[in-house]
Amino acid sequence: MTKVHNYSAGPCILPQEVLKQASEAVINFNNLNLSILEISHRSKDFIEVMDNAIALVKELLNVPSGYSVLFLQGGASLGFYISAINVMKKDGKGAYLDTGVWSAKAIKEAKRLGSVEVIASSKDKNYNSIPKSFEVPGDADYLHYTSNNTIYGTQFKTVPQSSIPLICDMSSDIFSKEIDVSKYDMIYAGAQKNMGPAGTTLYIVKDELLGKTGRDIPSMLDLQVHIEKESMFNTPPVYPIYVSMLNLQWLKKNGGVKWIEGINNQKAELLYAEIDRNPLFKGIVEKEDRSNMNVTFVLTDESKSEAFDAAWKAANISGIKGHRSAGGYRASMYNALPLESVQALVDVMQAFEKTNG
Ligand code: PMP
Repeated sequence: MTKVHNYSAGPCILPQEVLKQASEAVINFNNLNLSILEISHRSKDFIEVMDNAIALVKELLNVPSGYSVLFLQGGASLGFYISAINVMKKDGKGAYLDTGVWSAKAIKEAKRLGSVEVIASSKDKNYNSIPKSFEVPGDADYLHYTSNNTIYGTQFKTVPQSSIPLICDMSSDIFSKEIDVSKYDMIYAGAQKNMGPAGTTLYIVKDELLGKTGRDIPSMLDLQVHIEKESMFNTPPVYPIYVSMLNLQWLKKNGGVKWIEGINNQKAELLYAEIDRNPLFKGIVEKEDRSNMNVTFVLTDESKSEAFDAAWKAANISGIKGHRSAGGYRASMYNALPLESVQALVDVMQAFEKTNG
């Protein structure tokens, strides 16, 4: 099989060995002579998967006691609403940092429930930076932000200071670097970047945050219900949880989040250095806010795009076209993308400079 350098923005590259284990379990799981797809979610073998997956999240992210870990459905897009309905009081208010399309969607869902205050936004700058100065209203029930802006390629380098509960959509950078979970009251993330395949959504929730809204929350949206039922209120997405477990085992075996953070830093340094050096390319976000996960850039001369596209495609590079709303290029460098794939892209950029510079 030809090696493809997979820069997909999500769903995205997963380690080959994880894909192999995952494929084997479709035929014969745990030597049961049954597929993981055809056993009960209440079976001993699957409960073990769920328990392992939760334990791995707790261990890899150093989750303190007093927090629950859940594997639910609906993607981060339902997380926008779930996070709000579980924390915004009946006559309360949510505070939001608007750093991109995903933040804006979170704001839109929260507005269905009550009052929303957008305390800072980089929309007028085409979301090319992270707002630095803002005041967190003491009367809001929570502050919500998006740690990594997948489309634009910006990332918070520090956790926003907040005197009120802090909620974070960490869909595109969870498990990519060390975090201090104790600073957060809720973290949620779609699985399909650094955790596993699409189909499950991770929630890490401080237990004492819940049960204070005075709302009648539908069971499927009620985090307390899911905590009581240990993510088994209804049939969980068994296969995405299983593959996530395998992927987290891969991360742990290789050295955990600290190890991958080092590699992710190397990958980002390599590509950003080339973007800054090569006169044919230019980065599109503020340098201090650059994402280590999604690297966005453009050609300085748009008319060369056909030739550049042909060059990276010929080098078996896949998925670097920018998001339809941002244009240009976006190289997504999630955990499983090896350093050699970044080197392959840098080599293409350097060869392109020689022939087109
Ligand atoms: N938030 C962020 C930061 C994302 O990158 C995405 C998807 N790429 C979403 C939310 C939406 O996630 P989902 O498709 O799982 O609903």
